[in-house]
Amino acid sequence: MSAADEARVLAAVPTGLFVDGEWGPAASGRTFDVRDPSTGEVVASVADADASDGLRALDAAAAAQAAWAAIPPRTRSDVLRRAFDLLRERADDLALLMTLEMGKLLAESRGEVAYGSEFVRWASEEAVRVSGRYGTNPEGTGRTIVLKRPVGPCLLITPWNFPLAMATRKIAPALAAGCTVVVKPADLTPLTTLAFVAILAEAGVPDGVVNVVTTTSAGEVCEPIIRDPRLRKLSFTGSTPVGSTLLAQASERVLRTSMELGGNAPFLVFDDADLDAAVEGALLAKFRNVGQACTAANRFLVHEAVSDEFVRRVTDRVEAMTLGRGTDDGVDVGPLIDDRAVAKAEHLVADAVSRGAVVRTGGSRGGGTGTFFEPTVLDGVQPGSELLTAEIFGPVLAVSTFADEEEAVRQANDTEFGLVAYAFTRDLARGQRLAETLETGMLGLNVGVVSNASAPFGGVKASGLGREGGLEGIQEYLETVYLMTPDPFAA
Ligand code: NAD
Repeated sequence: MSAADEARVLAAVPTGLFVDGEWGPAASGRTFDVRDPSTGEVVASVADADASDGLRALDAAAAAQAAWAAIPPRTRSDVLRRAFDLLRERADDLALLMTLEMGKLLAESRGEVAYGSEFVRWASEEAVRVSGRYGTNPEGTGRTIVLKRPVGPCLLITPWNFPLAMATRKIAPALAAGCTVVVKPADLTPLTTLAFVAILAEAGVPDGVVNVVTTTSAGEVCEPIIRDPRLRKLSFTGSTPVGSTLLAQASERVLRTSMELGGNAPFLVFDDADLDAAVEGALLAKFRNVGQACTAANRFLVHEAVSDEFVRRVTDRVEAMTLGRGTDDGVDVGPLIDDRAVAKAEHLVADAVSRGAVVRTGGSRGGGTGTFFEPTVLDGVQPGSELLTAEIFGPVLAVSTFADEEEAVRQANDTEFGLVAYAFTRDLARGQRLAETLETGMLGLNVGVVSNASAPFGGVKASGLGREGGLEGIQEYLETVYLMTPDPFAA
């Protein structure tokens, strides 16, 4: 991709608010800048909404709700399918846009466009499969009919780390179910969402069904929407502290919520593991998105008999990684999202080292103008180190050891989070035991990536409520209603 491609892609992306089918400025006329984390340069300025813009978006969503819910499911399905086709057609441009605002490697952005698009295809297929049931009550005196109907207008709040997939994973099932939405993307990476919404409009989503507000005042814009009785559902992906603030706001009206929150994934390597596979899985689970994923392996727990060998092999691979701009060829690790993220990685490494960990490779900030941190391997991480409880969200692979399965499970569960766990073992029964004993919403058994549009993604404990994707994803946007009727054969 050339500088001309970059300019073309940036010139094409809309930068206003999208409300009731129209792009326009914020009421205040204010804008904010979006920067390329590889260079610190401003790549676009987008509208900076205030509370009045947010409520205007909710007005549009509420007004469009009844008509959208009444449209035949096949029509909603067709619109989503057209959006999926457009996403595929424009995959290269969307990937470049994502790399420019977020920093991830172009190859990873392409992977995210493919992954994110699948939620749109899946939702287009699910739109026509929403069904209820009919049954005789146990007494034989009546019939029960269970039906599903759309929850109503939704507020969807997304994070910066997967700017397309986190948006498609919410918007597509909501639309499939017959809900209208107000979307609030992260202010660090609004451009990909704006480009996706333009695609939805082009695919035929009617005015007011999808509305987007970009803002640097997330709380000021979202709280009045959450407290408004017309809103029927809040779906949030982001950090656990923000998620619990939003849950408190939502509790006042007993609002339906879905929460995809933080993680602290354990990555277990047993002494019977295929070590080559474990190393490949580790690199994927740790360095995808430079570690900035809720699913990133945070704690590598390795059986003491194979730990030295695992660390040696992983270190060889990590030492060979090249740091650089995501658009450049031959780069393995891109920048972190901002300076705060670099400072956090620096602090967590220093803390672990002060408690006895050894740096095998990396450990410092990268050079240049971007927000880089070297890919790092830490060995001998000791209990009490902060990175065992905090989300690292950076390219730091931290290893500690265990002596047996019981200790491995105890260490793995020693966290408030429970989003995903990874385990490498050749013992099938052990794999099954882990699925029953690890406190997690997802388990990658001998794989380093679990995300798939057909699977129910989500966590237990402080990692959240509800699931996205799979058969479960659309249910988050449906209400269950049941109808009791008399026995039709009774006199
Ligand atoms: P964040 O919580 O800071 O922000 C997420 C979104 O919430 C952004 O759009 C932000 O503007 C908005 N926000 C912040 N304060 C708000 C408020 N008071 N009211 C309304 N909206 C508010 O998270 P982040 O830094 O963007 O993303 C990283 C976090 O997201 C990590 O903790 C990561 O684990 C988590 N995450 C979870 C999943 C998952 O599926 N479980 C997926 C991706 C990221």
